[in-house]
Amino acid sequence: MPAREGNWRGSIRIVRSEKVITGPYMDDSMIAALFDAAAKVRQQAHAPYSGFAVGAALRADDGQIYTGCNVENAAYPSGTCAEQGAISAMVAAGARRIEAIAVLGDGTRPVTPCGACRQRISEFATATTMIVAANLAGTQTRFTCAELLPDSFRADLLPNGKRG
Ligand SMILES: [Zn+2]
Repeated sequence: MPAREGNWRGSIRIVRSEKVITGPYMDDSMIAALFDAAAKVRQQAHAPYSGFAVGAALRADDGQIYTGCNVENAAYPSGTCAEQGAISAMVAAGARRIEAIAVLGDGTRPVTPCGACRQRISEFATATTMIVAANLAGTQTRFTCAELLPDSFRADLLPNGKRG
């Protein structure tokens, strides 16, 4: 099944919003910009095996938006997730903090990050960093990082206390 080309421009229906989260990068216009970027990069996904194309876009503390798509491999475990690509792009550019991240896929419900990506996001996020999942139907679900990965393993659990 080929990846569905994105005409993702629909209105958003928020079905769940756990908390009021304030911050300069958390407004609806920023989330919309993230989903525009996620929809665009999703069209570049390499998903010939699952046919499930995913796009991710994050806003970093340098004010830039970084994107990634899933990149599958004939050796299945060698494939990478969209969120992973976006985080790698952010780190390569020198940024280290995710302000918000959006994930978009053609699911029957909003496409949330897999377990490994929740940990990857956590490395560069705070407990209240917004993670927004959506599907092509325009249904959107907003979470905080702590909601998707409660009691996560973090750098302060390491013997030396902090990274670096
Ligand atoms: Zn993942």
